[in-house]
Amino acid sequence: MPVRDSFGRPLRDLRISITDRCNFRCPYCMPKEVFGPHFTFLHREDLLTFEEVARLAAIFVRQGVEKVRLTGGEPLLRRDLERLVAQLAAIEGLHDIALTTNGSLLTREKARALKEAGLKRITISLDSLDDAVFRAMNDVDFPVARVLDAIDAAAEAGLAPVKIDAVVKRGVNDAGVVELARHFRGTGHIVRFIEYMDVGNTNRWRSEDVVSGREILDLLQREWALVPAESNYFGEVAERWRYADGEGEVGIITSVTQPFCGSCTRARLSANGEMYLCLFASTGYDVRKLLRSGASDDDIAAVIASRWHSRDDRYSELRSVETPSRKVEMSYIGG
Ligand code: SAM
Repeated sequence: MPVRDSFGRPLRDLRISITDRCNFRCPYCMPKEVFGPHFTFLHREDLLTFEEVARLAAIFVRQGVEKVRLTGGEPLLRRDLERLVAQLAAIEGLHDIALTTNGSLLTREKARALKEAGLKRITISLDSLDDAVFRAMNDVDFPVARVLDAIDAAAEAGLAPVKIDAVVKRGVNDAGVVELARHFRGTGHIVRFIEYMDVGNTNRWRSEDVVSGREILDLLQREWALVPAESNYFGEVAERWRYADGEGEVGIITSVTQPFCGSCTRARLSANGEMYLCLFASTGYDVRKLLRSGASDDDIAAVIASRWHSRDDRYSELRSVETPSRKVEMSYIGG
């Protein structure tokens, strides 16, 4: 039985950031002026080792977690990631292992190795098909073509359907929403449009820059007839819409305009082993300290259970009322 929080929400998912570093500098996430050459990232010895990650994941599974998503930062910056995937795949009761990546390092060989190690699903971020727009959005001049190639590599390795996540920012890439949807329509892959969120403190988020899920849906519905589809499971973040002509589906993630805190079943682990109970939290709990001080699995399980039990976060539902002064960065806590 999963442990439940103060609103009755079960602990089902664990997102693990395995590095706070990224090779992209998307201004909405890791703007260059902050994450420049002088920024201090976590030191190697601060990062959880793969063995520590796997041990913690197994303890979380005992508390009800069924799905683990590896993210970051850019998770493929951790060498031999497939070694971690294999360790996770060996955990009894863990049904689903997923990865979120920008695709820049996803070669065919890497995609195959991840799949063989037990990766079940992959989400590849791609904000625009317009090369100039995309290069500006990643701010390291990375071309669209290489991300498209990574999507093909994932599909060829047996990781299809690939989810393709696009953050929509007003005046930046909203003109390309329909083009992105059209490109993947009929391919089996699922594009999901994400409202630009006020995570962290560095992206100078303004509500005017948010293109609401409603607006995104309007843009799509001007082109195609869409019908709402049921959620695949409790706590699914994307609203699903199917093309009425059977050419697949798109998703819309409305974390700003229609928050889904009520069904949030996710805990997060930062790359240095802090447990967070909300993407918008300002503090985490240092599980690594416990781990490295010789605590038993039962000790750690008890702490996780008790922290989840008293969880009452619902930041997105309250954001208009109160905003925490300092939120943790998404690259640190994991997107
Ligand atoms: N580097 C990987 C990637 O690019 O997918 C994984 C980490 S990244 C933080 C995960 C996702 O978070 C990406 O799809 C990214 O676009 C999204 N993201 C980052 N900042 C965001 C923001 N302010 N609002 C909405 N999504 C954001």
